[in-house]
This record gives sequence, structure tokens and C-alpha cells, in this order.
Amino acid sequence: MPILLYGNDSQKEKYLPKLASGEWMGCYCLTEPGAGSDANSGKTKAVLTEDGKHYLITGQKMWISNAGFADVFIVFARIEDDKNITGFILDKGMEGITMGEEEYKLGLNSSSTRQVFFNDVKVPIESLLGGRDNGFKIAMNALNVGRIKLSAAVLDACRRVISLSTNYSNERIQFGVPIAKFGAIKHKLADMAVRTYAIESATYRAGNEIEKNIKRLESEGVDRQEAHLKGIEEYAIECSIVKVLGSETIQYCSDEGIQIYGGMGYSAETPMEAAYRDARIARIYEGTNEINRMLLVGMILKKAMKGELDIMTPAMKVASDLMSIPSFETPDESKLFAIEKENIKKLKKTILMVAGKAAQHFAMDIEKEQEVLMSLADMIIDVYTAESGLLRTEKLSLKNGEEATQHQITMSKLFLYSAIKNCQKAGEEVILSFAEGDEQRMLLMGLKRFTKGYTINPKEMRRSVAAKLIEENKYCF
Ligand SMILES: Cc1cc2nc3c(=O)[nH]c(=O)nc-3n(C[C@H](O)[C@H](O)[C@H](O)COP(=O)(O)OP(=O)(O)OC[C@H]3O[C@@H](n4cnc5c(N)ncnc54)[C@H](O)[C@@H]3O)c2cc1C
Repeated sequence: MPILLYGNDSQKEKYLPKLASGEWMGCYCLTEPGAGSDANSGKTKAVLTEDGKHYLITGQKMWISNAGFADVFIVFARIEDDKNITGFILDKGMEGITMGEEEYKLGLNSSSTRQVFFNDVKVPIESLLGGRDNGFKIAMNALNVGRIKLSAAVLDACRRVISLSTNYSNERIQFGVPIAKFGAIKHKLADMAVRTYAIESATYRAGNEIEKNIKRLESEGVDRQEAHLKGIEEYAIECSIVKVLGSETIQYCSDEGIQIYGGMGYSAETPMEAAYRDARIARIYEGTNEINRMLLVGMILKKAMKGELDIMTPAMKVASDLMSIPSFETPDESKLFAIEKENIKKLKKTILMVAGKAAQHFAMDIEKEQEVLMSLADMIIDVYTAESGLLRTEKLSLKNGEEATQHQITMSKLFLYSAIKNCQKAGEEVILSFAEGDEQRMLLMGLKRFTKGYTINPKEMRRSVAAKLIEENKYCF
């Protein structure tokens, strides 16, 4: 991906066909023992040789996926005292590249993860990737793609875990009946499906938006590589959203999968044990979920400060709306999702109100208020995902009719229901963290106004989703 996004023509010609065909494997060497989340602080050095024709790269990278069998190494190193690291393309077999032993890991046992050491590795200057001092940008943009890819990858894991769990529930007899007959098991199966359907929707939506954005830029005359770069970069927030929720959804599904399998779920003989262990890494790599949560809120605030995104005007409007009498207009209930869309609007108002007031209160110091940023991120993730589910289901329903889409409609409502509950809790935490007296009372009142009144029967709705899964004996949405 770094070569595709930042390579020059001869680099792309040399590496991309063989990497794309699978003839060559690549690895991405960013993390170091002292530079994990703080990826730009790496100590690996690149020193120009006296004749100006080579760089000598020296340093240590760790946790490098594919290292054991990689043919191509993307390595980030610092030239002199540059502010940022620089990217280089190295080939297998270059003198001075050595490896640590394979890491003994919790999961991902079929992947190679090793330390890679570089000892005065002589690299031609032509191997410099994307310009000096540009490596951090390259690393981050490659990670944006990695984040949405991670979400797409975990979707398949979620579907498989749900299918296996459904299958097991249908076959395992206790108290004389299949455990699928029990409400507690139905609840779990349905919740797994609801969350998976929602993150699937968010991932498809973000992917489609990115593709459309790239095409738009290309049609405006931006060259292909630049269009890909910008097209993805402009959706970095969405990439972080789906990375966080995707990784947490597979963790949730595999955990509940073990629970459904009972003791057998804990045994290495069944697939749940590996699914659970393999899922765990997704919350750590491609930027930890904490870093991604902070990034996504940070990016929104940065866009607001640069004037690219106006959040203060709507935030102020929400504040003044709160002082007025609530509207008694009711949405047209005969229209699919009329009520749900109204609730999404209210949730967005909730975020604007809470984030706007928090930003006003903490000003530049908001960066130091990580707990607040985490809660705001949770609200944004939930609302984006709930809205994605509704939009996808609306399209499906237009295409196939409401009757054929009834389970997706139910799942979208169930996800929205939990999103409202989560936003209530997260919003309250933010408000209580800074507001006092009248301001606190007003904000809590606003929160209540924007998050109340969505009443569904979650138990019956979950049962209907579970019934479909049990009947089909697999994830079928
Ligand atoms: C199996 C596996 C494969 C990997 N593959 C690759 C690879 O191919 N290439 C590569 O370059 N790297 C790879 N990594 C490394 C991975 O990207 C890092 O582990 C990850 O970025 C976290 O860095 P760290 O482990 O140093 O944790 P740390 O950065 O030390 O973080 C530890 C904890 O502190 C939190 N934290 C850190 N900074 C902050 C902050 N500012 N505010 C709040 N909380 C913070 C983190 O969220 C985390 O919970 C891999 C790791 C593993 C385990």
C-alpha cells in the first residue's frame, strides 16, 4: 500500500505486479521497542554515504507481520535530525538484515511475527519512498487503508462465528431441547447478528464513500495516485470508526460464541477458542482503539478549527433550541424509519451539544481530557453506525420490499436502540466531567430530551432475529 500510494513509476513497476500476484510478500516495519503508538519517535537511522549514492540504515523494528517470509520491507527511519521519519523500500537478502525468533503469541499463529534488525544496511537512494521527512504521513495514510481493511476482514470472522454458534445451538441438547430454544441463547445470537449487520453497513458505507470520492477527484483531473491518497485521507475519520467498532464486534461475537459453546468453547478442539484469541489483536494493531478514538475526535475538532467543518454554529443552535419549547410535530409513522431518522437527528444534536460545550469549556486543553474524548468517540461511532444500518436497510427495502427486509429493519432498530442508550451514558459522563450548577442541569435536561422516547420491544425483536438465524442455521442477512 505505501508503494501504491507514494511510489514513483519505477518503484511501482518493480514491486507492485509481484506483490499483487502474491509472488512476493511484503512487510511493514514501523513499530520499534520504544516507538509503538508514538510511531514518529522511532530511533532507526538512515545515514547518507559520502558518495551520496546510498543510505546506511541501522535500527530495530518489532512485531513485524510477515517478516519471516517477506521479500520486500517497507522501513521507516530518520535522516539526521529530521522532524519526521522517512520511508524506504528494502529487499530481502540485503546485507545487514537479520531477524529475531518467531514471537510466541496469543493468536494469529499462522502469521509470522518477528523483530527485524538493520545493521548498516546499504540501500540505494532510489529506494527512498515518497520524499524525505514524509514517512509519518505515508505510515498514517497506509494505516487509514489498513483500518477499513481490518473492519472488512473481521466481518467475515463475525459471520463465521455467528454461523458456527447458531449451528451449535441447534445441535446441543440440554434439558431435553436444543439450547437454541432458550431465550438467553436467542438474545446472544440476535445481539451478535445486530452488531455484525451494523458494522457491515458502516464498513460498506465508508468503502463506497471512499470509492466515490476517489472517482470524483479523478473526474476533476487529479492524477490517479493523488486521487487515491486524498480520496482515502478525507475519510480517515470513517476508517477509524469502522476499525474500532469492527475490532470490538469480533471480540464481542467470539466471546459470546465461546459462551454459547459452554465448556467446549474453552477447548482448543473447537473453533471458538482460536476465534477469540485471534480477535484480540484487532483492537491493538492498525493503531490501538484508544489512539483511534482520540484520533477521530481530534480530526473532527481540527477540521472545525480549520473552518472545514462548522460544528460551532449548529452546536450553538442546539443550545438555543434547548431554551425553546419542544416541537410537538410528530414524524409520519407510515414512512419506513421516519421515527428512527428523527432519533438520529436528535442523537446528532446530542453530540453537538455535548462536544460543543466540552470544546468551549476545555478549549485547547481538551486534548488532555482523554476520558472526555473517549466518550465523545463512542457517541460518534454509535451514531455513524446506527445511521449506516438505517440507510442500508432503507435501500434494501426499496429494492426488495419491506416484507423481505423485515429482519434487517428489526436489526437496524435494535442497533439504534442500543446506540441511544450508549449515547445517554457517554453523554452524561462528559457533562458531569465539567459542567456544574445551572449549566449541568440544562445540559442533562437537553440530553434527556434528545435521547428519550424511542420505545421498542427489544426482547421480542431479538427473538424474531434469532428465529431467522436458527431457521437458516447460519448468519443470513
Ligand atoms: C501480532 C502483531 C502484529 C503486528 N504487526 C505489525 C507490523 O506488521 N508492523 C508494525 O510496524 N507494527 C506491527 N505491530 C505493532 C502494533 O502496531 C503495535 O503493537 C501498536 O501500534 C501498539 O503499540 P505498542 O505495542 O508499543 O503499545 P503502546 O504504544 O506502548 O501502548 C500501550 C497502551 O497504552 C495506550 N496508549 C499509548 N499511547 C497513548 C496515548 N497517547 N494516550 C492514551 N493511551 C495511550 C495504548 O492504547 C495501549 O493501550 C504488530 C503487533 C502485534 C502484536
